[in-house]
Amino acid sequence: MADEEKFDAIIVGAGPSGIASALTLAKAGLSVVALERGEYPGAKNLFGGILFTTILAKLIPNFTEEAPLERHIVTRRFSLLSKEGELAVNLRNEQFNRPPFNHSFTVIRSRFDRWFAEKAEEAGAEVYPGVVVDDLIFENGKVVGIKARGEREGTYDELYGNCVIIAEGANSLLAERAGLRKEKSKMSPENRVTAVKEVIKLPREVIEDRFHIKDNEGIAYEYFGEAVSGMIGSGFIYTNKDTISVGVGCLISDLMEKRMTLYDLLDAFKAHPAVAPLLRGGEVIEYSTHMIPEESYDELPELVGDGVLLVGDAAGLINPSFFHEVTNLAMASGVFAGEAVIEAKEKGDFSKETLSSYRKKLEDSFVLKDIKKYRRFIRFLKDNPEFLSDQLPFVVDLAASFFTVSETPKEEVVRDVIKRFRKKMGTFSLLKRLWQAKRAML
Ligand SMILES: Cc1cc2nc3c(=O)[nH]c(=O)nc-3n(C[C@H](O)[C@H](O)[C@H](O)COP(=O)(O)OP(=O)(O)OC[C@H]3O[C@@H](n4cnc5c(N)ncnc54)[C@H](O)[C@@H]3O)c2cc1C
Repeated sequence: MADEEKFDAIIVGAGPSGIASALTLAKAGLSVVALERGEYPGAKNLFGGILFTTILAKLIPNFTEEAPLERHIVTRRFSLLSKEGELAVNLRNEQFNRPPFNHSFTVIRSRFDRWFAEKAEEAGAEVYPGVVVDDLIFENGKVVGIKARGEREGTYDELYGNCVIIAEGANSLLAERAGLRKEKSKMSPENRVTAVKEVIKLPREVIEDRFHIKDNEGIAYEYFGEAVSGMIGSGFIYTNKDTISVGVGCLISDLMEKRMTLYDLLDAFKAHPAVAPLLRGGEVIEYSTHMIPEESYDELPELVGDGVLLVGDAAGLINPSFFHEVTNLAMASGVFAGEAVIEAKEKGDFSKETLSSYRKKLEDSFVLKDIKKYRRFIRFLKDNPEFLSDQLPFVVDLAASFFTVSETPKEEVVRDVIKRFRKKMGTFSLLKRLWQAKRAML
C-alpha cells in the first residue's frame, strides 16, 4: 500500500457486508480497498450456516454456477427440546428444489468469502488480507482514514480515504472508536451471543440417508429450549456436501448467570437423544467460536457519521426472529452503503448529512422494516425467561403424555392434559403471554 494513496472508500473487513460494498463501489468505477485481518478473506470467519442470496443474485447473477456452494436447503425444521423429548415442525417443499432454491444455500465461509472477495477484485476493488486495522484517523471530527498495525510493534501504516466503511463484524471496536456505538449500543454481555460450531465429517451417502436428501439437497435443523439449557439462543445442524455443521449459541449474560461454558452446552446438545443419532460415527475436523450481535431496533448504533458508515454485524443488523437471514441483511447493507458513497462522490461531499441516505435506504428496505417488526422479540424472551426454560419444554413433555399408550379412556387423558397445562401456565397469564409472544414473534 502506498502511504500517500487516497481511496474513495476504505473498507475494514472482507466478510459478506464489506465485500458487497466493495463490489458495488468497484462496479461504479470508484477506487476502493478492503482490508482484512485474516490470512485470506474468510480465514477467520464462521457461521452456521445458510447463506441467504437474494442480494448476491443481484450482484452476481450467475453465482449458482460459480460460487463454492455446498447444498441448497429443501428442509427446514424447528424443534423444541425438553430433557428427553422433541416436538418439531418439519417444512419440506419441492419448490425449494428448483431455482432460485429459496435463496438458501449452505456454504463453508473460508471458501465462500475468498471467492466473493475475488469477484470484487475482478470488478476493480483492491483486497488486502493480513492487515489489522487498529484505529481510525480523524480530522476536525471527520473520519479521513485508518491506522493499520505495522510490522514492528507499536508502529502503524496510515491510509487515507474520502470515507471508511466499517464492516468488522460483531466484535465492533472500531464502531465504538468512531463514536457510533455509545451507551446501550456498546458491546456488552447483554447484546452479544457467543456461539461454537463443530464441522463433523461423515460419508456423503450417510448424510443423504440420515437426513432423507439426495444430490445437492440440504437440511437446516434449529433447536430451542433444552438445546441450550433453556437460555436465549439455539442449537443447529446444517448439512454440507460431506460434512455437517453442528453448534450452539446463546446470550453471554445468560451463560455468565448460569455459570456454564459453551463447551458444556455443546456436549449436552450433542448428547441429547434427539440429536446424538444424527451425529453418530462422525469425526470432528474443525472447531471454532464466534460472536453474533443480538440487538433490537431500539438499541441499534448510529449507522453514519462524518466520513464513516457501519454495515452488517458491525451495525447490529440482525433479525433475531426465526428468519435470521443475516447474511442477506449484511450484503444488503453493504450494497446500500456503497450506493450512498457513490452519491456522496457525485456531490463531492462525504459529510454525515449526505451519507445519511444510507440509513434511509435501509429504512425503506426489508432490512430495517424486518428488524423494526421484530424489535420486541429479544425483550420478550428476556422478560419471560421461563418461556424458553420451563414452559416450552413442558409443552414437549405434555405432548408425550397425550400420546402415551394406556388403558385410561382418552376423555380422561385429554382432561388431565388440559388441567396440567392450565395449572402450569395459569389461564390469564397464559393468554397474556401468548398475546405478547404473538406480538413479538409473528
Ligand atoms: C455460529 C454462527 C452461526 C451463524 N449462522 C448464520 C446462518 O446460518 N445464516 C446467516 O445468514 N447468518 C448466520 N450467522 C451470522 C453471519 O455469520 C453474520 O451475520 C455475517 O457474517 C455478517 O457479515 P459481516 O460481513 O458483517 O461480518 P463478518 O462476516 O464477521 O466479517 C467481518 C470481517 O472483518 C474482519 N475484521 C474484523 N476486525 C478487523 C480489523 N480490525 N481489521 C481488519 N479486518 C477486520 C474479520 O476478520 C472478518 O473477515 C451466524 C453467525 C455465527 C457466529
